[in-house]
Amino acid sequence: MSSAGFAIGIDIGGTNMRAARVSPGGEILERISVRTDPDPGAALETLLSLADRLDGAGACAIGVGIPGRVDGWSGEILSGGFLDMSGIDLKRELAMAFGCPVTVANDCSMALIAEHRCGAAMGIGNAAMLTIGTGIGGALMEAGRIVNGRRCAGQLGHLVVNMGGRPCKCGQRGCVETESSGTALRRHLDEAGYGGQIRFEQVLALAEAGDERARGVMIAWAGPLRAAINTLSAAFDPDIVLLGGGMGQAACRAMDFLPPERCWYQVDTLPARLGDDAGVIGAGLAALDLVPKARGGRRLVMVNGVPASGKSSLAHALAERTGWPLLALDTIKEPFLELLDGVDRPFNRLLGRASYKAIFAAIGEAAEGSTFIVDAWFGFQPAEVLREHVEMAGIGEVVELWCHAPPEVIGERYAARLGSRLPGHPGAGYVPELIGLAGRAGPVGLGPVLDVDTTRPADAEAVIAWIAGAFDG
Ligand SMILES: [Zn+2]
Repeated sequence: MSSAGFAIGIDIGGTNMRAARVSPGGEILERISVRTDPDPGAALETLLSLADRLDGAGACAIGVGIPGRVDGWSGEILSGGFLDMSGIDLKRELAMAFGCPVTVANDCSMALIAEHRCGAAMGIGNAAMLTIGTGIGGALMEAGRIVNGRRCAGQLGHLVVNMGGRPCKCGQRGCVETESSGTALRRHLDEAGYGGQIRFEQVLALAEAGDERARGVMIAWAGPLRAAINTLSAAFDPDIVLLGGGMGQAACRAMDFLPPERCWYQVDTLPARLGDDAGVIGAGLAALDLVPKARGGRRLVMVNGVPASGKSSLAHALAERTGWPLLALDTIKEPFLELLDGVDRPFNRLLGRASYKAIFAAIGEAAEGSTFIVDAWFGFQPAEVLREHVEMAGIGEVVELWCHAPPEVIGERYAARLGSRLPGHPGAGYVPELIGLAGRAGPVGLGPVLDVDTTRPADAEAVIAWIAGAFDG
């Protein structure tokens, strides 16, 4: 990986596949565009060759925006349309081919990232975007971060605006995509008796001159869109809604013909600014977010194991002997448990996730070359989350000490210390669950793994010697 320079952003559209070298400032340094092949295997080949032509091997990272549903947390492609790449592990394919971090997300999410960083939503944290083209894509941003929900929130094209409307590919009827997309505009024009050749601008000019038939088309096309925007505003209350894609500007113009309305959910609706470039710029910038800002081989010693696996004693023994800072998830979480009332298990898990992130944020601030010991049950979050945290913290080397003991021993240890735990931690009822977990849990394997049986006294010196060898190796 190269620390300077550029990422490759790729935007897979229904018509064209665009790829560009993108600078950290969001400038396009070089671009290529080819027709999208509807065959998934051929599309993958094209995508790899585009990245190669843009020097994928020299890029810091690669980002890809995909139309349709993509798991925003893992990058798994869940469905497609004209081109369906679900079933292809695109992140893995690209990472294997180019050896750099890869992010894959919904194309409209990528476009919204670009508009937020260097377009119409600059300085605005809460935004929604609809990309209007053949279909309607959607994305949501809260406090500057894309909202993923469980997996793929922001499918705004599938907000229902007409219960008895046309069937949509998603299985519902009357989604805004079926009423206000570019495809729907063509249908509204046909239904109004306009010939197949007439362009939107011509109808717009007629509507502006007062032509009732043309105004009718504008209202029929933009009315459902406004209903969808009001609905998303009621649900998410964004600061602005951007309309992008090939027909975003046109949709903003068409909305001007709608009669004024009085409702609680009005929100500023503006055209996006970056046009067709938004997708590649956003994909490139999202990819650059994966690259450590100050690369420099921070080192991480993961002391991993399920709760009560004996990892904390080992972590302390190592910290004492090496002088390396020790960050334990519980140490960060405990003050919150002390100060917050009524922490239940879901909230405890949320605090755990925040503490986990805090650990890596702190490591990311440390001097290059620092080594940290982190004591946590790393399996409480997907390995993908850890990988992203490690990359963002600028950690170049990872070793893992996998602490384990027979499940029953772990259950007994947990039960024995229940009295000294703060409220918020799971109680005695958790013991059988923990025993089950201990039976199936294993190391993450992000780097070399040392197996540590915690039923025996730890030989900290031997562990340190192993760590030194693993880092040198
Ligand atoms: Zn739908």
